[in-house]
Amino acid sequence: MAELKISVAYDKERNIVRPENAVTGVNYHCPACGELLIFRRGQIKVPHFAHKQTEACNQETIVHQSAKLLIQKAIEDWKVGKSEPPVLERKCRVCDRNVEQNLPEKVDYASLEHRLPEGFIVDIGLIAHGNVEAAIEVRVTHEVDEAKAQQISIPFIEVDGNEILENPSRWKPTIDFFKPLTCTKCRLDFQNFRKKTLRIAKQTGVDLPTSFYRYASILCWQCNKEILVFTWPNHKMYSQELPIGQPPPKTLCFRFSKAVGRKYCMNTCIFCNAIQGDRFLHIEPEGPFLGLCYDEDTCGKDSLESFQEDLIKLASYADYIGDLERED
Ligand SMILES: [Zn+2]
Ligand SMILES: [Zn+2]
Ligand SMILES: [Zn+2]
Repeated sequence: MAELKISVAYDKERNIVRPENAVTGVNYHCPACGELLIFRRGQIKVPHFAHKQTEACNQETIVHQSAKLLIQKAIEDWKVGKSEPPVLERKCRVCDRNVEQNLPEKVDYASLEHRLPEGFIVDIGLIAHGNVEAAIEVRVTHEVDEAKAQQISIPFIEVDGNEILENPSRWKPTIDFFKPLTCTKCRLDFQNFRKKTLRIAKQTGVDLPTSFYRYASILCWQCNKEILVFTWPNHKMYSQELPIGQPPPKTLCFRFSKAVGRKYCMNTCIFCNAIQGDRFLHIEPEGPFLGLCYDEDTCGKDSLESFQEDLIKLASYADYIGDLERED
């Protein structure tokens, strides 16, 4: 009869035990169904636990349950100072580079099969100051179903159960709805971008918007001076009108373009009045606004959050263009 492989077991004190730490003559139980386990330690085979295939248990449940217990233990060990904090392998929301993040200090413990206020049970609730702050779902064969993912009201990640068995304190989310992370480089880019644009604002007397109008800096193609240029959410090329109710920066003007053959709302140079065409700003590879997203559904909305988010993107893109310029 087929056997089920067990990665971690319970002893009678309900400690979780890896086969390499198990001793003969002690009773160990399946973490999923409680069945008494067979423990083998041979000359050739690596130590392992197993039990016979039963109606009540299967390999998937075992992996699922073991991974949850190992995550809980990784947090416990960290909290009592026996190990380093679990590390999350995530992506920078701006540049998509890998970023490692320690599990935040405030997490006190993991609660398994935790029921959220709205009734959902998540595999693991991360508890801080007595509240469930975030959740972890463990995937074995199926990912978290869409409907559930939509309705989990707190930040959550999904991790692969088999990967957790290999390394319980390194989590590589397969779905990541934790608070978005910005890498050190993108944060630095943003600081530099802020410094530079503030300086240009001072030099030109053109104020930096604090909401709505997104900005970047360029060298005017005509007078070669540093100037600020602007765009706005859901901007259309060669726009016939400025957004209603949003007083524009003073260098955004309705002017005639020879290249386009008509008037449109465009950026102009504060020093020499030259037009800074939409085509260059939005479409050319060195255009400062190329890095912005123009998908109406997701990017047409204006909020202070999307304003901040766009500036971080623009900063990262400005640094990228800077690299191109330095290369040639
Ligand atoms: Zn079992
Ligand atoms: Zn980044
Ligand atoms: Zn100029």
